[in-house]
Amino acid sequence: MPTKTATQSYDAIIIGGGPAGACAGAILGEYGHRVLILEREKFPRFHIGESLIPFTFQPLQRIGMIPKMKASAFQKKYSVTFVQPDGRRSQPFYFFNRYDRETVAQTWQVLRSEFDQLMLDNAREKGAEVREETTVNRPLLDGDRIVGVEATDKSGRTYEVRAPITLDCTGKEAFLSNRNGWRMRDPYLNKIAVWTYYKDSKRGAGIDEGDTTVAYVPDKGWFWHIPQHRGMTSVGVVAEGKYLTRDGFKEPKEIFHREVEQNLWIKDRLSVGECTGEYYITSEYSRHSRYCASPGLVLVGDAFAFLDPVFSSGVMLALKSGQLVGETIHVGLLAGDLSPARFTAYGATVRQGVENMRKLVYAFYDPKFSFREVIARYPDAAGEITDCLSGDVNKDFSQLWSRIREFVPLPDDLPYGEPLGADALARSLPTAQNGGRPG
Ligand SMILES: Cc1cc2nc3c(=O)[nH]c(=O)nc-3n(C[C@H](O)[C@H](O)[C@H](O)COP(=O)(O)OP(=O)(O)OC[C@H]3O[C@@H](n4cnc5c(N)ncnc54)[C@H](O)[C@@H]3O)c2cc1C
Repeated sequence: MPTKTATQSYDAIIIGGGPAGACAGAILGEYGHRVLILEREKFPRFHIGESLIPFTFQPLQRIGMIPKMKASAFQKKYSVTFVQPDGRRSQPFYFFNRYDRETVAQTWQVLRSEFDQLMLDNAREKGAEVREETTVNRPLLDGDRIVGVEATDKSGRTYEVRAPITLDCTGKEAFLSNRNGWRMRDPYLNKIAVWTYYKDSKRGAGIDEGDTTVAYVPDKGWFWHIPQHRGMTSVGVVAEGKYLTRDGFKEPKEIFHREVEQNLWIKDRLSVGECTGEYYITSEYSRHSRYCASPGLVLVGDAFAFLDPVFSSGVMLALKSGQLVGETIHVGLLAGDLSPARFTAYGATVRQGVENMRKLVYAFYDPKFSFREVIARYPDAAGEITDCLSGDVNKDFSQLWSRIREFVPLPDDLPYGEPLGADALARSLPTAQNGGRPG
């Protein structure tokens, strides 16, 4: 029988110690606030999401992680390359052709078990209290307001902790967003991913060693090829479930190897080296929360919005939202006001980034779309495409979208992401003109 102990109070409670939670925790801890991170797993733990993009640099710098990244063994990444099914390769897109080579333009391919451990330790160093192997079971409510959580540690002890603000940083599981019924499926982004790891397979040399390759499966989906440190390479295929499981294929291993035959470049890369033999499968349906916050609660990282990973934007968005929410809460704590309205700008900024990236993701999945053709007609679009793909997502890209719409339809912005406060409650929920479908 679980025991209850005396309630403890904090300035902020963070559920989930992934990149979003660890980033927000580091910022709040550094400001001297009493912040508690509750994490279900014991780190290091496995997680997918291994390729960083250039604009992770700023949040990593803000929380003091850059020296640790530089001292790490993580594979340096300077570029992205696209490969056709017949093996034809684009030139690598080198980030240093647009950004400073010593900072933003060099990013990393990480092993998430190691990266997330560094991030969580960094949050501890900055003053956050971290309790691993502790599962949050439910929110504590005072009317509509979340005033804390009930958690259970590995010994089975169940206890309550209280704070004026709780951050849901639980990743794709989106614990409180789901519980509140706020989770909305993206109408068209409904893929699954199957992946494994190879040791000592073929990879590029010099600055191309850490190149991310996106390799197309004819009209259907794509492979990622992410070379990591210690000779490991992460390789996965992403497409609609119906396609990947055609002819009754169910086992991740058989699905994976059948698709390898569909791309000559991937097949060649894996023709040497050894597969670790572990295969993983996950749905990666894009999902968005209707609201970013409600009294006593704010959503961060994947728990706020999870976007198809084709452009490796997830960790960038998790770090960016973690940084922004940390700063917003700091100001709110000083002002003694953490009402939902405080998170209006936060919600709008994160949604703007998600929507910009989402437009490129929709374009990518349209078989009639090609970056090459857009750039051939509008050479100066190359810079804006690079910015968005690199994670510089909070910009006005309206000219780029109207240019791309000459080739393929793009979706309207989804009407999500405002805080649910007294004002929003009084209004009825806005509905998308066209359900967010491309138009
Ligand atoms: C197939 C695939 C490939 C991807 N590839 C990339 C990529 O190359 N690059 C990239 O940037 N992103 C990628 N992503 C996305 C990336 O994985 C996420 O965007 C990122 O991990 C989000 O970080 P987060 O902190 O929001 O959540 P997470 O990293 O998922 O962390 C959430 C944490 O919350 C904890 N938790 C959950 N529930 C509870 C609870 N009730 N109590 C306590 N703790 C709890 C979990 O244990 C977990 O540690 C990919 C995703 C998928 C599915």
